[in-house]
Amino acid sequence: MRIQAAVCREGTGFPQIEALDLEPPRAGEIRVRLAAVGVCHTDIRVATRPMGPRPMVLGHEGAGVVEEVGEGVGEFAPGDRVLMSYAFCGVCVACRHDAQSYCLEAMPRNFGGSRPDGSSPLSQQGRMVHGAFFGQSSFATHAVCEARQAVKAPDDIPLERLAPLGCGVQTGAGAVINVLKAGQGQTLAVFGAGSVGLSAVMAAKAVGAGRIIALDVNPARLAVAQDLGATDVIDPRQTDPVAAIMDLTGAGVDFVLNTTDRTEVYLQGIACLGPKGVFAFVTSPGADLAVDMSRLMLGGRSIRGVVQGDSEPRAFIPRLIELHRQGRFPLERLITTYRFEQIAEAMHDSETGAAIKPVLTFPQAG
Ligand SMILES: [Zn+2]
Ligand SMILES: [Zn+2]
Repeated sequence: MRIQAAVCREGTGFPQIEALDLEPPRAGEIRVRLAAVGVCHTDIRVATRPMGPRPMVLGHEGAGVVEEVGEGVGEFAPGDRVLMSYAFCGVCVACRHDAQSYCLEAMPRNFGGSRPDGSSPLSQQGRMVHGAFFGQSSFATHAVCEARQAVKAPDDIPLERLAPLGCGVQTGAGAVINVLKAGQGQTLAVFGAGSVGLSAVMAAKAVGAGRIIALDVNPARLAVAQDLGATDVIDPRQTDPVAAIMDLTGAGVDFVLNTTDRTEVYLQGIACLGPKGVFAFVTSPGADLAVDMSRLMLGGRSIRGVVQGDSEPRAFIPRLIELHRQGRFPLERLITTYRFEQIAEAMHDSETGAAIKPVLTFPQAG
Protein backbone atom coordinates (compact mmCIF):
# COMPACT_ATOMS: atom_id res chain seq x y z
CA MET A 1 0.00 0.00 0.00
CA ARG A 2 1.02 3.61 -0.49
CA ILE A 3 1.97 5.45 2.72
CA GLN A 4 3.53 8.73 3.81
CA ALA A 5 6.79 8.38 5.73
CA ALA A 6 9.55 10.68 7.00
CA VAL A 7 12.71 9.57 5.18
CA CYS A 8 16.34 10.24 6.13
CA ARG A 9 18.26 10.52 2.86
CA GLU A 10 22.04 10.68 2.31
CA GLY A 11 23.97 12.73 4.83
CA THR A 12 22.54 14.06 8.04
CA GLY A 13 19.57 16.21 8.95
CA PHE A 14 15.93 15.99 9.86
CA PRO A 15 13.83 13.63 7.71
CA GLN A 16 11.43 14.74 4.95
CA ILE A 17 8.00 13.28 4.28
CA GLU A 18 7.73 11.24 1.06
CA ALA A 19 5.36 8.69 -0.47
CA LEU A 20 6.60 5.09 -0.02
CA ASP A 21 5.23 1.60 -0.54
CA LEU A 22 4.63 -0.67 2.47
CA GLU A 23 4.46 -4.46 2.10
CA PRO A 24 1.60 -6.38 3.69
CA PRO A 25 2.49 -7.98 7.03
CA ARG A 26 4.35 -11.27 6.77
CA ALA A 27 3.86 -14.25 9.09
CA GLY A 28 4.09 -13.07 12.71
CA GLU A 29 3.74 -9.39 11.76
CA ILE A 30 0.94 -6.84 12.04
CA ARG A 31 0.26 -3.59 10.18
CA VAL A 32 -0.57 -0.60 12.35
CA ARG A 33 -2.17 2.65 11.21
CA LEU A 34 -0.39 5.25 13.33
CA ALA A 35 -2.35 7.59 15.58
CA ALA A 36 0.71 8.98 17.36
CA VAL A 37 4.47 8.52 17.59
CA GLY A 38 6.89 9.96 20.11
CA VAL A 39 10.17 11.58 19.09
CA CYS A 40 13.06 10.12 21.09
CA HIS A 41 16.66 11.34 21.31
CA THR A 42 17.78 8.16 19.56
CA ASP A 43 15.80 9.19 16.45
CA ILE A 44 17.45 12.60 16.43
CA ARG A 45 20.87 11.09 17.06
CA VAL A 46 20.58 8.67 14.14
CA ALA A 47 19.11 11.37 11.86
CA THR A 48 21.71 14.00 12.56
CA ARG A 49 24.85 11.85 12.74
CA PRO A 50 26.33 9.49 10.18
CA MET A 51 24.69 6.49 11.91
CA GLY A 52 22.84 3.64 10.24
CA PRO A 53 22.00 2.94 6.59
CA ARG A 54 20.28 5.39 4.24
CA PRO A 55 17.67 5.99 3.02
CA MET A 56 15.90 5.04 6.25
CA VAL A 57 12.65 5.69 8.10
CA LEU A 58 13.13 6.19 11.85
CA GLY A 59 10.51 6.35 14.62
CA HIS A 60 10.19 3.88 17.49
CA GLU A 61 7.45 5.04 19.86
CA GLY A 62 4.45 4.33 17.65
CA ALA A 63 0.86 3.80 18.74
CA GLY A 64 -2.18 3.19 16.58
CA VAL A 65 -4.78 0.76 15.38
CA VAL A 66 -4.15 -2.70 13.92
CA GLU A 67 -5.36 -2.86 10.31
CA GLU A 68 -4.12 -6.25 9.15
CA VAL A 69 -2.47 -9.27 10.76
CA GLY A 70 -0.03 -11.70 9.13
CA GLU A 71 -0.25 -15.46 9.11
CA GLY A 72 -0.16 -17.09 12.52
CA VAL A 73 -0.98 -13.96 14.52
CA GLY A 74 -3.79 -14.88 16.89
CA GLU A 75 -3.35 -12.33 19.63
CA PHE A 76 -4.38 -9.24 17.63
CA ALA A 77 -7.23 -8.48 15.26
CA PRO A 78 -8.00 -5.51 13.03
CA GLY A 79 -9.33 -2.65 15.15
CA ASP A 80 -7.18 -3.38 18.20
CA ARG A 81 -5.43 -0.38 19.70
CA VAL A 82 -1.73 -1.03 20.30
CA LEU A 83 1.53 0.65 21.08
CA MET A 84 4.83 -0.63 19.74
CA SER A 85 7.97 -1.12 21.81
CA TYR A 86 11.48 -2.31 20.89
CA ALA A 87 12.32 -5.40 18.81
CA PHE A 88 13.68 -8.65 20.25
CA CYS A 89 14.04 -12.20 18.93
CA GLY A 90 12.03 -14.01 21.60
CA VAL A 91 14.18 -17.16 21.55
CA CYS A 92 17.77 -16.32 22.58
CA VAL A 93 19.12 -16.93 26.07
CA ALA A 94 18.41 -13.33 27.13
CA CYS A 95 14.86 -13.38 25.78
CA ARG A 96 14.17 -16.69 27.49
CA HIS A 97 15.36 -15.35 30.85
CA ASP A 98 13.27 -12.17 31.20
CA ALA A 99 15.97 -9.99 29.70
CA GLN A 100 14.39 -9.10 26.36
CA SER A 101 15.94 -5.64 26.27
CA TYR A 102 19.34 -7.41 26.30
CA CYS A 103 18.37 -9.72 23.40
CA LEU A 104 21.52 -11.02 21.70
CA GLU A 105 20.08 -9.71 18.41
CA ALA A 106 19.10 -6.30 19.83
CA MET A 107 21.50 -4.24 17.73
CA PRO A 108 20.69 -5.64 14.25
CA ARG A 109 16.97 -5.90 15.03
CA ASN A 110 16.66 -2.33 16.30
CA PHE A 111 19.30 -0.46 14.33
CA GLY A 112 20.06 -2.62 11.28
CA GLY A 113 17.47 -0.98 9.00
CA SER A 114 15.95 -4.29 7.90
CA ARG A 115 14.28 -7.47 9.07
CA PRO A 116 16.68 -10.21 10.25
CA ASP A 117 16.60 -11.70 6.73
CA GLY A 118 17.83 -8.40 5.23
CA SER A 119 14.51 -7.40 3.67
CA SER A 120 12.63 -4.18 4.38
CA PRO A 121 8.86 -3.70 4.27
CA LEU A 122 9.47 -0.27 2.72
CA SER A 123 10.34 0.68 -0.85
CA GLN A 124 9.97 3.51 -3.35
CA GLN A 125 9.49 2.80 -7.05
CA GLY A 126 10.83 -0.70 -6.49
CA ARG A 127 13.96 0.43 -4.63
CA MET A 128 14.42 -0.67 -1.04
CA VAL A 129 14.11 1.94 1.67
CA HIS A 130 15.54 0.83 5.01
CA GLY A 131 12.86 0.21 7.61
CA ALA A 132 12.29 -1.93 10.68
CA PHE A 133 13.99 0.72 12.84
CA PHE A 134 13.33 -0.70 16.31
CA GLY A 135 11.32 -3.24 14.32
CA GLN A 136 8.75 -0.56 13.39
CA SER A 137 9.92 2.63 11.57
CA SER A 138 6.88 4.47 12.84
CA PHE A 139 7.56 7.99 11.51
CA ALA A 140 4.94 7.04 8.95
CA THR A 141 1.20 6.85 8.48
CA HIS A 142 1.45 3.03 8.65
CA ALA A 143 4.04 0.59 9.98
CA VAL A 144 4.61 -3.15 9.96
CA CYS A 145 6.04 -4.70 13.13
CA GLU A 146 6.36 -8.12 14.71
CA ALA A 147 3.32 -8.94 16.84
CA ARG A 148 5.51 -9.79 19.84
CA GLN A 149 6.69 -6.19 20.23
CA ALA A 150 3.16 -4.76 20.34
CA VAL A 151 1.28 -4.10 23.58
CA LYS A 152 -2.52 -3.80 23.72
CA ALA A 153 -3.59 -0.27 24.62
CA PRO A 154 -6.62 0.45 26.81
CA ASP A 155 -9.54 2.36 25.30
CA ASP A 156 -9.78 5.01 28.01
CA ILE A 157 -6.44 6.77 27.44
CA PRO A 158 -5.49 8.69 24.26
CA LEU A 159 -2.89 6.98 22.09
CA GLU A 160 -0.84 10.19 21.90
CA ARG A 161 -0.28 9.82 25.62
CA LEU A 162 0.55 6.10 25.46
CA ALA A 163 3.03 6.22 22.56
CA PRO A 164 6.09 7.37 24.56
CA LEU A 165 5.69 4.46 26.98
CA GLY A 166 7.28 2.22 24.34
CA CYS A 167 10.79 3.63 24.81
CA GLY A 168 11.62 6.81 26.72
CA VAL A 169 9.11 6.57 29.54
CA GLN A 170 9.65 2.87 30.27
CA THR A 171 13.41 3.52 30.19
CA GLY A 172 13.29 6.10 33.00
CA ALA A 173 10.53 4.51 35.05
CA GLY A 174 11.97 1.02 34.57
CA ALA A 175 15.42 2.12 35.70
CA VAL A 176 13.92 3.23 39.03
CA ILE A 177 11.37 0.43 39.54
CA ASN A 178 12.92 -2.62 37.83
CA VAL A 179 16.65 -1.96 38.04
CA LEU A 180 17.35 0.18 41.11
CA LYS A 181 14.21 -1.08 42.86
CA ALA A 182 14.04 2.20 44.77
CA GLY A 183 11.73 1.97 47.75
CA GLN A 184 10.19 3.87 50.64
CA GLY A 185 12.42 6.62 51.95
CA GLN A 186 15.41 5.86 49.73
CA THR A 187 17.34 8.62 48.00
CA LEU A 188 17.82 9.08 44.26
CA ALA A 189 19.63 11.67 42.14
CA VAL A 190 18.56 11.97 38.50
CA PHE A 191 21.00 13.69 36.16
CA GLY A 192 19.17 15.17 33.18
CA ALA A 193 15.50 16.21 33.41
CA GLY A 194 14.40 15.24 29.90
CA SER A 195 11.67 12.71 29.23
CA VAL A 196 13.71 9.77 30.59
CA GLY A 197 14.84 11.64 33.71
CA LEU A 198 11.39 13.05 34.46
CA SER A 199 9.84 9.61 34.01
CA ALA A 200 12.33 8.44 36.63
CA VAL A 201 11.28 11.28 38.96
CA MET A 202 7.60 10.33 38.59
CA ALA A 203 8.39 6.66 39.22
CA ALA A 204 10.51 7.51 42.28
CA LYS A 205 7.66 9.54 43.73
CA ALA A 206 5.16 6.77 42.94
CA VAL A 207 7.22 4.19 44.86
CA GLY A 208 7.67 6.49 47.85
CA ALA A 209 11.31 7.47 47.52
CA GLY A 210 12.40 9.91 50.23
CA ARG A 211 14.67 12.46 48.64
CA ILE A 212 14.46 12.84 44.86
CA ILE A 213 17.13 15.19 43.52
CA ALA A 214 16.87 16.35 39.89
CA LEU A 215 19.79 17.98 38.06
CA ASP A 216 19.60 19.89 34.78
CA VAL A 217 20.95 23.08 33.20
CA ASN A 218 17.45 24.08 32.03
CA PRO A 219 15.54 25.91 34.80
CA ALA A 220 12.16 25.27 33.14
CA ARG A 221 12.78 21.54 33.29
CA LEU A 222 13.84 21.76 36.92
CA ALA A 223 10.52 23.47 37.64
CA VAL A 224 8.67 20.59 35.95
CA ALA A 225 10.77 18.12 37.96
CA GLN A 226 9.64 19.84 41.18
CA ASP A 227 6.01 19.68 40.08
CA LEU A 228 6.40 15.95 39.39
CA GLY A 229 7.90 15.12 42.76
CA ALA A 230 11.56 16.18 42.91
CA THR A 231 12.28 17.29 46.48
CA ASP A 232 15.43 19.17 45.47
CA VAL A 233 16.71 20.57 42.19
CA ILE A 234 20.25 21.51 41.24
CA ASP A 235 21.55 23.47 38.26
CA PRO A 236 25.12 22.15 37.87
CA ARG A 237 26.16 25.39 36.18
CA GLN A 238 25.33 27.28 39.37
CA THR A 239 26.35 24.77 42.04
CA ASP A 240 28.87 21.93 42.22
CA PRO A 241 26.56 18.91 42.01
CA VAL A 242 28.69 16.56 44.11
CA ALA A 243 29.07 19.05 46.98
CA ALA A 244 25.38 19.93 46.80
CA ILE A 245 24.26 16.29 46.95
CA MET A 246 26.63 15.56 49.83
CA ASP A 247 25.22 18.62 51.67
CA LEU A 248 21.68 17.35 51.18
CA THR A 249 22.30 13.71 52.09
CA GLY A 250 25.31 13.59 54.38
CA ALA A 251 26.89 10.43 52.99
CA GLY A 252 25.60 10.38 49.43
CA VAL A 253 22.54 8.95 47.70
CA ASP A 254 21.34 5.35 47.49
CA PHE A 255 20.90 5.62 43.74
CA VAL A 256 21.96 7.73 40.80
CA LEU A 257 20.35 7.61 37.37
CA ASN A 258 22.36 9.31 34.64
CA THR A 259 20.31 10.05 31.52
CA THR A 260 22.98 12.18 29.83
CA ASP A 261 26.01 11.21 27.72
CA ARG A 262 28.31 13.84 29.24
CA THR A 263 31.55 12.31 30.47
CA GLU A 264 31.83 14.50 33.57
CA VAL A 265 28.33 13.53 34.68
CA TYR A 266 29.28 9.85 34.93
CA LEU A 267 32.12 10.75 37.28
CA GLN A 268 29.99 13.19 39.29
CA GLY A 269 27.24 10.61 39.62
CA ILE A 270 29.62 7.93 40.85
CA ALA A 271 31.14 10.42 43.30
CA CYS A 272 27.65 11.08 44.79
CA LEU A 273 26.98 7.46 45.74
CA GLY A 274 26.61 6.59 49.39
CA PRO A 275 27.54 3.18 50.85
CA LYS A 276 26.20 0.33 48.65
CA GLY A 277 24.94 2.96 46.22
CA VAL A 278 24.14 2.02 42.63
CA PHE A 279 24.89 4.21 39.61
CA ALA A 280 22.67 3.39 36.63
CA PHE A 281 23.09 4.86 33.15
CA VAL A 282 21.02 4.60 29.99
CA THR A 283 23.32 5.92 27.28
CA SER A 284 27.00 5.54 26.41
CA PRO A 285 29.47 8.23 27.50
CA GLY A 286 31.04 10.39 24.83
CA ALA A 287 34.52 9.11 25.74
CA ASP A 288 36.28 6.44 27.79
CA LEU A 289 36.32 7.01 31.53
CA ALA A 290 38.76 6.30 34.34
CA VAL A 291 36.64 5.08 37.25
CA ASP A 292 38.03 4.78 40.78
CA MET A 293 37.46 1.07 41.31
CA SER A 294 38.71 1.23 44.91
CA ARG A 295 35.95 3.67 45.78
CA LEU A 296 33.43 1.23 44.31
CA MET A 297 34.87 -1.75 46.16
CA LEU A 298 35.39 -0.11 49.56
CA GLY A 299 31.90 1.39 49.54
CA GLY A 300 30.18 -1.68 48.12
CA ARG A 301 29.10 0.57 45.25
CA SER A 302 28.20 -0.61 41.77
CA ILE A 303 27.62 0.61 38.23
CA ARG A 304 24.84 -0.76 36.08
CA GLY A 305 24.14 -0.15 32.40
CA VAL A 306 20.43 -0.15 31.56
CA VAL A 307 18.57 -0.67 28.28
CA GLN A 308 14.82 0.12 28.11
CA GLY A 309 14.63 0.09 31.92
CA ASP A 310 14.91 -3.73 31.90
CA SER A 311 11.29 -3.50 30.84
CA GLU A 312 9.40 -6.46 29.45
CA PRO A 313 6.84 -4.20 27.77
CA ARG A 314 3.76 -6.41 28.08
CA ALA A 315 4.33 -6.80 31.80
CA PHE A 316 5.62 -3.35 32.72
CA ILE A 317 3.72 -0.92 30.49
CA PRO A 318 0.28 -1.96 31.84
CA ARG A 319 1.62 -1.26 35.37
CA LEU A 320 2.64 2.26 34.32
CA ILE A 321 -0.73 2.78 32.64
CA GLU A 322 -2.49 1.83 35.88
CA LEU A 323 -0.35 4.28 37.88
CA HIS A 324 -1.21 6.91 35.27
CA ARG A 325 -4.92 6.15 35.57
CA GLN A 326 -4.69 6.69 39.34
CA GLY A 327 -3.03 10.07 38.78
CA ARG A 328 0.27 8.83 40.21
CA PHE A 329 2.19 8.95 36.93
CA PRO A 330 1.12 12.14 35.11
CA LEU A 331 3.03 11.53 31.88
CA GLU A 332 0.85 14.01 29.98
CA ARG A 333 2.96 16.69 31.68
CA LEU A 334 5.91 15.68 29.49
CA ILE A 335 4.11 15.75 26.15
CA THR A 336 3.83 18.44 23.48
CA THR A 337 1.90 17.36 20.39
CA TYR A 338 2.71 18.26 16.79
CA ARG A 339 1.14 17.20 13.51
CA PHE A 340 3.15 14.57 11.64
CA GLU A 341 4.07 17.18 8.99
CA GLN A 342 5.77 19.20 11.75
CA ILE A 343 8.36 16.50 12.44
CA ALA A 344 11.32 18.82 11.80
CA GLU A 345 9.90 21.42 14.20
CA ALA A 346 9.29 18.71 16.81
CA MET A 347 12.88 17.47 16.53
CA HIS A 348 14.20 21.01 16.68
CA ASP A 349 12.16 21.75 19.82
CA SER A 350 13.44 18.56 21.42
CA GLU A 351 17.03 19.60 20.73
CA THR A 352 16.57 23.13 22.09
CA GLY A 353 14.71 21.88 25.15
CA ALA A 354 11.50 23.74 24.23
CA ALA A 355 9.64 20.40 24.23
CA ILE A 356 10.33 17.58 26.70
CA LYS A 357 8.60 14.80 24.77
CA PRO A 358 7.31 15.75 21.34
CA VAL A 359 4.57 13.43 20.07
CA LEU A 360 3.52 13.53 16.42
CA THR A 361 -0.16 12.95 15.72
CA PHE A 362 -2.02 11.74 12.65
CA PRO A 363 -5.47 13.29 12.40
CA GLN A 364 -6.83 10.61 10.09
CA ALA A 365 -6.33 7.88 12.70
CA GLY A 366 -8.43 7.41 15.82
ZN1 LIG B 1 16.57 -12.52 21.89
ZN1 LIG C 1 14.01 5.74 22.26
